[in-house]
Amino acid sequence: MAYRVGVIGGGQLARMMVPAAVNLGLDISVLAENEGSSANIAASVVGDYLDRETVLAFARTVDVVTFDHEHVPQPILRALVEAGHAVHPGPDALRYAQDKIAMRQKLEQLGVPVPVWAAVGTASELDAFIADNGGHAVVKTPRGGYDGKGVRVVSSAAEVADWFIALAEDGNDGALLAEERVDFRRELAQMVARRPSGETQLWPVVESVQLGGVCAEVIAPAPRSAGVVADAAADMAIAIAEGIGVTGVLAVELFETTDQRLLVNELAMRPHNTGHWTIDGSTTSQFEQHLRAVLDLPLGATGCRDTWSVMVNILGGPADGSLADRYALAFADQPTVKVHNYGKAPRPGRKVGHVTACGDDLDQVVFEARAAAAFFKN
Ligand code: ADP
Repeated sequence: MAYRVGVIGGGQLARMMVPAAVNLGLDISVLAENEGSSANIAASVVGDYLDRETVLAFARTVDVVTFDHEHVPQPILRALVEAGHAVHPGPDALRYAQDKIAMRQKLEQLGVPVPVWAAVGTASELDAFIADNGGHAVVKTPRGGYDGKGVRVVSSAAEVADWFIALAEDGNDGALLAEERVDFRRELAQMVARRPSGETQLWPVVESVQLGGVCAEVIAPAPRSAGVVADAAADMAIAIAEGIGVTGVLAVELFETTDQRLLVNELAMRPHNTGHWTIDGSTTSQFEQHLRAVLDLPLGATGCRDTWSVMVNILGGPADGSLADRYALAFADQPTVKVHNYGKAPRPGRKVGHVTACGDDLDQVVFEARAAAAFFKN
């Protein structure tokens, strides 16, 4: 029997599921946004994930539907489930990755620590929140944000006047998410996989360095995290995966505060940038694990192959050509580093690839990964 997996969304996350599926002899197909999508290397269908009939027709060709992103609307997800399709993660879990206010409410209900927050529907509510929280707030649009788009640090509601206008135009009692500006020492991420039948597996907690709201580097495991921090991150991720009923891979983005607390910032219910190191650095990559999990197959071991793995994103890429134009120089200079090219057109700030270096000496591994990534800059 061949397992058939369908992935909605044609970005680099779907693309990186392909080699894992090929190795396991799975049939993988992708519902991609357009011909030029990153994942348009697998059997892919080009279609609109906002169109119910397109998504239902795609689902009929596979055994399980999963995702490269969280943007498939709830009514379409529910139509898939009603039509008898296996959908992982399911709509009841995904809704918390689709709406940051619903996510904050649910995490609080689960007893998981989060930043001080409020749903604010008007400028005066936001100004009151700012006054109560040291004169600042981090304001987020609850839906559709990614890579820091939809996140602003403000000291007055006037700085998000455009977002309040957009809310009013939507006319459906919407609100923005206001949060305290967390004084964090560093950002961490804990990834976990969970099967529908309940088994979970965790990778070690990692440190992620964000620049301008975009993940730039990941160090696995997070330095100085063994013990209390790692245990707390692991416990939170399991509590969230089980409490929300997530199936597949879940990324929990965390703040480690200067007063040594861990707060949950974000959830992603799919493979995640902070897990890319697992392709080269762990016994089981997040992409293989996601496929195993959504097929309800026993999960793979998640230990590290080396003491350290460091992933550096290639952001933007060379303006004058493709990543491959730089391969000869990069490969000759850094033969131990693994380069991953998403096949996307270079554009300022865009995630077009990443590199991973692994080894025993953290300084050396960081040096190698940064040196290799530098070959792909402008
Ligand atoms: P996105 O969904 O666009 O990734 P996030 O909510 O993860 O948005 O925020 C992006 C980045 O903004 C975070 O990685 C962090 O660096 C910063 N940030 C977000 N929320 C807060 C907060 N409450 N306090 C301080 N910094 C924050």
